[in-house]
Amino acid sequence: MENLRPILFAGLTPRRPALIAGPCSAETEEQVMAAARALAARGVRIFRAGLWKPRTKPGGFEGVGAAGLPWLARAKRETGLRIATEAATAEHVAAACAAGVDLLWIGARTTANPFAVQEIADALRGHDIPVLVKNPVSPDLELWIGALQRIRNAGIRRLGAIHRGFSTADRSLYRNTPQWSIPIELHRRLPELPLFCDPSHIGGRRELIAPLCQQAMDLGFDGLIVEAHCSPDEAWSDRAQQITPEALDEILRRLVIRRTTATTESLDELRREIDECDDELLELLARRMRISRRIGQYKREHSMPVLQTLRYDELLARRAAEAEKLGMDGAFMRAVLQAIHEESVRQQMEVLGE
Ligand code: PEP
Ligand code: MN
Repeated sequence: MENLRPILFAGLTPRRPALIAGPCSAETEEQVMAAARALAARGVRIFRAGLWKPRTKPGGFEGVGAAGLPWLARAKRETGLRIATEAATAEHVAAACAAGVDLLWIGARTTANPFAVQEIADALRGHDIPVLVKNPVSPDLELWIGALQRIRNAGIRRLGAIHRGFSTADRSLYRNTPQWSIPIELHRRLPELPLFCDPSHIGGRRELIAPLCQQAMDLGFDGLIVEAHCSPDEAWSDRAQQITPEALDEILRRLVIRRTTATTESLDELRREIDECDDELLELLARRMRISRRIGQYKREHSMPVLQTLRYDELLARRAAEAEKLGMDGAFMRAVLQAIHEESVRQQMEVLGE
């Protein structure tokens, strides 16, 4: 599969990922131009702005539609940025291509529908435009690959994927949980396919953009697509997750791009560090159990029950959330705490029985 490298990676320094940035939605010509100028001035080369916005519920801002195409064309003309937008129907494809849009992406709600993807694929036939396919809203790798195949079968050679997280019924730290194993498996199955991360729609909140960008880089993603707006708090859509061009620049500056080739650290040294961590863990656990036994004594003296489920539930939820902020899986943290708690209860029961 030919890839997007010629358009996305030309002239990049190795310390910066391929980047697409711009507002969630084009709102007004002034807003588009202000964002385009600010981003171009900071080295961004591909500008995103949604014109047709698929909203989960009616009544939200559904985009300015084709009326925004001349604004994007002006941004391209005056700043030299390449322009990208979402296409969800055959008409969107035709209008965007006619207006000189340089890159199209297919949104998560569209990827979930094979009829819609096929309609877009048919409309793309004969056009030589790069296309990025977002994952479907549900964690369904085959559906994602199927959409990529439909676009590929229409003759599109410059193809890539965007990981934007998956919606789940559970409340979580994220707007859409990353489930990194799915894009990693996509990469294993299609190693030539450039893979982008969309931290904005995964995180849903400004403060999560930086750590998500770093995680994507650590997992070997090729690029990032980030929502940026000059006045995020006044944005007409996805307010909480948009960042200013200045904030984006700061995040990119702080990104650590690790070399994939040999490191200077020896494996022995790293294993020794792991052993030290385990020593400390054991020591800490023993101390925690000693405290548990003292609590057991207190409960015995005051005739209190061992199990206090409210406090335990609260503790589990809080620690799982904290663990996620630290880059660990919440479910993993719960499992660890549950095991510790079980042993702690056993120790308290022992004290009570003494
Ligand atoms: C977007 O990129 O603004 C968008 C609507 O994203 P998604 O399709 O991932 O929800
Ligand atoms: Mn958005």
